[in-house]
Amino acid sequence: MDDLESIKAYLPEAVRACRTHSEQGEVAAYIPELSKVPSDALGICILDRYDQYVLEGDVELPFTLQSISKVFTLILALMDHGEDAVFSKVGKEPTGDDFNSMLKLELVEPGIPFNPMINAGAIAISSLIAGSSPQEKSERVLTFFRQITRNHTIDINHDVYRSEAASAHRNRSLSYFLKDNGVLTGDVEEVLDVYFRHCSIQVTCMDVARMALLLACDGTDPATGQQLIPRRYVQIAKTFMITCGMYNASGEFAIGVGLPAKSGVSGGILTLVPGRLGIGVVGPALNNKGNSVAGVQLLETLSTRFEWSMF
Ligand code: GLN
Repeated sequence: MDDLESIKAYLPEAVRACRTHSEQGEVAAYIPELSKVPSDALGICILDRYDQYVLEGDVELPFTLQSISKVFTLILALMDHGEDAVFSKVGKEPTGDDFNSMLKLELVEPGIPFNPMINAGAIAISSLIAGSSPQEKSERVLTFFRQITRNHTIDINHDVYRSEAASAHRNRSLSYFLKDNGVLTGDVEEVLDVYFRHCSIQVTCMDVARMALLLACDGTDPATGQQLIPRRYVQIAKTFMITCGMYNASGEFAIGVGLPAKSGVSGGILTLVPGRLGIGVVGPALNNKGNSVAGVQLLETLSTRFEWSMF
């Protein structure tokens, strides 16, 4: 059993020290609404399977899931269509490029996104969510997030959603490119709408820790024993988190922290210690790879101190 008491004792100083690293990063501004947060915020929630948790720092700060949502839309698409259909639309390999790059879509045949963690791949995945309309698909995604966080008040932040929808020139160009390559079928704007909405779901560190704990427990709710996600799909999701979850800094994160993780441009990070802990972090100042500077630093510090690395 993890000694949450010793983690709790260690956290205040670790958060204080790591918060100062925020100065080296910048809050994302390409989605204008995201820039309206304190750049030196840092918060963390660590939750164990017995429902014991520790909170430290700016844990009340709401933030949108952004790319963290991609892990779970992938899982939903797998649950809806199975592996063959999903992997006919997206690959299984890291890109080494930025999360919103379109470089390899043109360079490498057959022009499908390299993986579901980059924007192009996640947009392709959004097109696979079951539902007869964008509204129905978005409802299905939101219901799933409410279920896995056990928080029925979770909702879309409509200001962030509108801000992204109005400024997503790059994602639009990626998506029309995917349409031309035959990856996207149907109405591109409708697919994008589903994508923007799941990126704009607003959470706190505690919600993210609960989502992470479910993955740490291989898809079984530790409280009820109910298998909410098939184990195989959790295995696929966690593998992508290791290889591509922190984009083109995934290798560095695997060496420094050694845990499956997924970041988002709002500064959130979801990570987990297999079988033991779910962790949610927020720190809005990002490095040039799009990951929370202070958040990564904090996770490195904790992983080293408590020997969390899987490797
Ligand atoms: N909604 C964001 C985008 O599409 C998600 C990217 C991210 O979190 N890295 O640009």
